[in-house]
Amino acid sequence: MPAGKTSQDYHFQFQLRSLTYIILQHKFPLQLPANLSAMQLPMSLIRTALRPTISVSARFASRQVAIGLGRSRLISQSVSKNGAAEVHGVGLVEQAPSTLEREFWRAVPVWRDVGESDFLSYRWSIANLVQGPEKLHKFLTSVLPEEIPLDQASGTVQSQQDLIADIYAGISAATMALRMTPYILSRINWQNPRTDPVFRQFIPLKSMMRPDHPNLVLDSLHEAADSPVNGLVHRYPDKALFLPTSVCPTYCTFCTRSYAVGADTESVLKSSLKPTRKRWEQCFEYIESQPALQDIVVSGGDSYYLQPEHIMMIGERLISMPNIKRFRFASKGLAVSPNRIIDRSDQWVDAIISVSNKARKMGKAVALHTHFNHPNEISWVTELAAQKLFEAGVTVRNQTVLLRGVNDNVATMSQLIRSLANMNILPYYVYQCDMVEKVEHLRTPVQTILDLEKQIRGSIAGFMMPQFIVDLPGGGGKRLAHSFKSYDRRTGRSTYEAPAVKGRGKENKVYEYWDPIEPSVEDEGTTQDNYAQVVQQA
Ligand code: SF4
Repeated sequence: MPAGKTSQDYHFQFQLRSLTYIILQHKFPLQLPANLSAMQLPMSLIRTALRPTISVSARFASRQVAIGLGRSRLISQSVSKNGAAEVHGVGLVEQAPSTLEREFWRAVPVWRDVGESDFLSYRWSIANLVQGPEKLHKFLTSVLPEEIPLDQASGTVQSQQDLIADIYAGISAATMALRMTPYILSRINWQNPRTDPVFRQFIPLKSMMRPDHPNLVLDSLHEAADSPVNGLVHRYPDKALFLPTSVCPTYCTFCTRSYAVGADTESVLKSSLKPTRKRWEQCFEYIESQPALQDIVVSGGDSYYLQPEHIMMIGERLISMPNIKRFRFASKGLAVSPNRIIDRSDQWVDAIISVSNKARKMGKAVALHTHFNHPNEISWVTELAAQKLFEAGVTVRNQTVLLRGVNDNVATMSQLIRSLANMNILPYYVYQCDMVEKVEHLRTPVQTILDLEKQIRGSIAGFMMPQFIVDLPGGGGKRLAHSFKSYDRRTGRSTYEAPAVKGRGKENKVYEYWDPIEPSVEDEGTTQDNYAQVVQQA
C-alpha cells in the first residue's frame, strides 16, 4: 500500500456475470425487514443515501442487479427496464470505509480531510476557488509531485519548480486569467498533469504554446462589430446573444470571448461587461424593438454567475416579450461545479427550473446549454446533477469545443457523446476551435473535425449525433464543417458561405478558416510575418 494511503482510500467494484451474482445470493442471504421489501425508490436517492463502497452488479433476467456494502448497511437492489429501483433487502453491517473513487477530491492533498457535505456545498466551492498568484502557488506546491513526467517515450521528467515556472510563464502569455473550481481541479491527474485533458484546457503552459497563426485575432467572431447595444450580439435575423456578465466560475484558456471575459491579463485589457440593470435594460429594449428576434441566448461569461433572482428576472422579462419564443441560459457550471445543482441550500437551479416551467406554460421553450469537453469532467456528482435537471423537465444541451490533445480522437469524442446522451444531455454541437489568439497549440485542422464526424456518425442514434461546426471567423455564424466551399489541405485554408447572414457588408461574403500552422511548417522558420510565403513554398 503506497505511503499515506489507508484502506479507506480504496474502492472495490466488481462487474460480475449473472452466475456469480447467483452464487453471491446464496453466500450472503439478505435480511428483509417487512417494511422495506421491494420498496420503490428513485435511483438517485439510493445512490446518495447508501453510498455503496463495495458493490457488485450484473444483468440478471433483463434487470440490472446490484448488491453493495453501504456505509452502514448491506443492500441489494435491482433496476427494472423502466429505470425504477427496487430495494430487496437491507440489513445492518459494520461501518464501511469511504472510497477514493467516490470522494475523488481527497486525492488533492489540501482537500484530503474535506467531507462530502463540504465538497458538495457551492458556498464551500466558491470559498476555495483557486485564482490569483498566491493561492495558485500554494495549491500547485501542495498537489504536484517533486518530479513530473515530461516525455513519456524517453521517460524524462521535470522538477515541480520547473513546471510551476512554465505555468506562470503561460499565464503571462495567455489571454485568459486563471480561475478554477475545486471540482474541476479534482478531476486532474496531478501525477501526470502535462498530458491531462482537463489540465490542458484551463492551465496554460508556455512550453506548449505555439506562435499564433497570422489570422488569429482576439475577437475572431467579430462580436463587438455585431453588437448594436453593449453586450448584445445580433448576427442572425431571428437570434441574439445577450451577455449579462463577463465572469465565469472557471476560465478556459481557449475562450472565444477572451476580449471580454474574466480579469485583465498581462496581454489583454478586457472590455468587461458589468452586470448592471441599466445595461441589461438597454439590451431588453433592443430585443423588444426587433419583431424578427425570436430566440435569445443568455450567456456571458457564465449564467452561473447570475444570482438566482437575476435568472428569474431575466427569464420572466424574456417570457413576457411577445416576439420571444425560446431562449437558453449558457453555463459551464454543470461541467465545472455540478455540486451547485444538487446543493439544496443554493437556489440557482430552482430559479432555472422555475423559469423553464413558467416558459413552458406560456408555450415557450427554455434550455440550459452547457460545455463538456472530455469524459473525465464527468463524475457521479455530474450524473446526480443531470438527473435532477432531467427529472425537473429542464432541457440540457451540450456544446463541445474540439481541442488538440483533449478530445481530438474518435475514442474520446465517442465516449463523451455517449456519456452525455446517457445523462440525457443532448450532444448538440462540436465546434472547431475558434481562431482566437494564443490557442494555436489547441487548434486542430478542419480535416480532424471532418474525420471525427465521419467515424462517429452511425455509432449512436441520429438525434444524439452532434453537429460538427465551424463558427465562421468574421461573424458568418455556424456552418456544418463539411459544408465548405473549398478546402486546400496544403495551405490549410477553407472557405464557407453563409447566405442567411446579411447586413454590415456580409452579402455574398466568403469566410475563411485557417488550419493551425503545423510544426513541420513552423520548423521552416515560420513567423507571423512570413507565414503565407512559407506555406506557399511548402
Ligand atoms: S465558460 Fe465559456 S465564456 Fe467562460 S471562459 Fe469558458 S468558454 Fe469562455
